[in-house]
Amino acid sequence: MRVFKFGGASVKDAAGVRNVFDVLQVAGYENVILVVSAMGKTTNALEVVIKNYFAKSRELQSSVQEVRKYHNEILIDLFEDDKHAVFAAVNKLFSDLENFLSENKSPNYNFVYDQIVSYGELISTTIISHYMTFRGITTEWLDVRNFIKTDTNYRDATVDWDATQKNITKNVKTKLLNITQGFLGSDENNFTTTLGREGSDYTAAIFAYCLNAESVTIWKDVPGVMNADPRYFENAVLLNQISYREAIELAFYGATVIHPKTLQPLQRKEIPLYVKSFINPTLAGTSVSKGADLEPHSPCFIVKKNQLLISLSSINFSFIMEENISEIFALLHQFKMKVHLIQNSAISFSVCVDDKFGNFKELKSLLSKKFKVTHNDDVSLYTIRHFTDAASKIVENGKDVLIKQVSRETMQIVTKAE
Ligand code: ADP
Ligand code: ASP
Ligand code: MG
Repeated sequence: MRVFKFGGASVKDAAGVRNVFDVLQVAGYENVILVVSAMGKTTNALEVVIKNYFAKSRELQSSVQEVRKYHNEILIDLFEDDKHAVFAAVNKLFSDLENFLSENKSPNYNFVYDQIVSYGELISTTIISHYMTFRGITTEWLDVRNFIKTDTNYRDATVDWDATQKNITKNVKTKLLNITQGFLGSDENNFTTTLGREGSDYTAAIFAYCLNAESVTIWKDVPGVMNADPRYFENAVLLNQISYREAIELAFYGATVIHPKTLQPLQRKEIPLYVKSFINPTLAGTSVSKGADLEPHSPCFIVKKNQLLISLSSINFSFIMEENISEIFALLHQFKMKVHLIQNSAISFSVCVDDKFGNFKELKSLLSKKFKVTHNDDVSLYTIRHFTDAASKIVENGKDVLIKQVSRETMQIVTKAE
């Protein structure tokens, strides 16, 4: 069994869906699980729906209509006949979504978020599965919520590996082209959960792990894993082969081409991960596998934008010690802030965090009871693996550097946004 994952960018329009078919012709599709994300920026569009829903905004209907219209245009382009069964199937999903919006009583934002946002993947896989059948490939559409079980930590759920393993071993049929949703799971009451934004790569790894798959291929809009994000760094070059360890480090520091949770399950069973271009599927791309890195360790650049630098100093000139630090971290954890860099001195303590859920205001009011709190919005955090002097100059050039930190293999630099 092989697992393929197609992300939002690969299926953002009708041409993208046709291209998935073409990629399958090249790569083969027997005994394959296709994990697919929501089309294009659908998840973001559904986040707007959720915002409007909680704000009781008059824009609620129109924001749903926008998502509907976007998919409808893709459908009309793909299937000439508007009597094709796919139209009814997609309409049914939209009416389920609308029913949820009118009948839901739960005030739990994260719970409601998952129930709504999941329609992105349910719709995309319905369309793609029908399209493959239309082009003559028999597919099996799987509702991933019957396979991947999680806890109830909505929006960032943790996988229940035992239950998931049992479901997958028992119910996934091999020999077919199976199509299923990335990013989603379900809790013990069968409510939908999600695995964290961009989590579809991880879904592919979960299936691969549970099926002892031969390999996982994630199809991307780049030639593979490069030594930098080509959007931000000119002259980025492809890394042909890297170890799990190197890939874990790159993903951990924020190379978004691979979701950070993807690699550990694969490493555990030594299942190779291929990162390949959906535009040029015959090219080799990057292979991530066990063993020493074959590439010379040239510098790799990673940038995380829109970070928040929080600096705390004690009000009464006392030191910030273990006791305070553990309290600070408990709060950061409570407010779901991911810490990417820590720096402390005798009387001050700084953390560079991702405030994904917009909780800083609340956190600040709690921290301010004990510390003097200052912060910089919108900073960029650069990480250079295998840094050199020349590499650090590339990053620092013309920027306002706030923090620079060096360990054996890695340099991290926090700068003000340009
Ligand atoms: P998906 O469509 O599967 O969600 P993503 O957009 O999340 O794909 O990932 C692909 C993007 O990752 C690329 O377009 C690229 O801008 C970005 N990226 C970040 N770091 C790297 C890197 N080191 N190598 C290649 N691409 C990278
Ligand atoms: N659709 C989800 C997101 O945009 C999951 C994914 O694309 O991996 O976050
Ligand atoms: Mg993505």
